[in-house]
Amino acid sequence: MSQRSPATPSTAPLAQRAGDPMSGCPVHQLRGRLRQASLRPTRQRVALGWLLFGKGDRHVTAETLYEEAVSMKVPVSLATVYNTLHQFTEAGLLKEIAVDGSRTYFDTNVTPHHHFLIEETNALFDIPDGAVTVADLPAAPEGTEIARVDVIVRLRKAPARGRAG
Ligand SMILES: [Zn+2]
Repeated sequence: MSQRSPATPSTAPLAQRAGDPMSGCPVHQLRGRLRQASLRPTRQRVALGWLLFGKGDRHVTAETLYEEAVSMKVPVSLATVYNTLHQFTEAGLLKEIAVDGSRTYFDTNVTPHHHFLIEETNALFDIPDGAVTVADLPAAPEGTEIARVDVIVRLRKAPARGRAG
């Protein structure tokens, strides 16, 4: 095959070559993380990973990520987005948060933390560190241990206060 590996489209200047080469390049880091997780860094995985991990901590659903990919002209199907999100989750790159039976979010912040959910819009966002204390957990049944505790604090619009009078 005479085909050269496709150049990654990038508007960013090349990472400085001094010291650890490319250490500051997110695409390079992403490829490394995928390889470490035994996931071949295919073009689609890298493109979706770029959308996921290029903007700081995020909470996405397969549908919102798919819409984003389409708007960025990334040629993927919704099924591929689903599969990729689950592969990334199994590889420890994402954390899955099931809010309702039908709605699953994928969190790029895989450290332990809790969430607010605005019920009306289904917007999910992080509760600041240390703001939730979970006390009096039941003892784990014999032969099991508690893996993690996910708290979702559901928010709705407060009734207007102090207007009547
Ligand atoms: Zn989160």
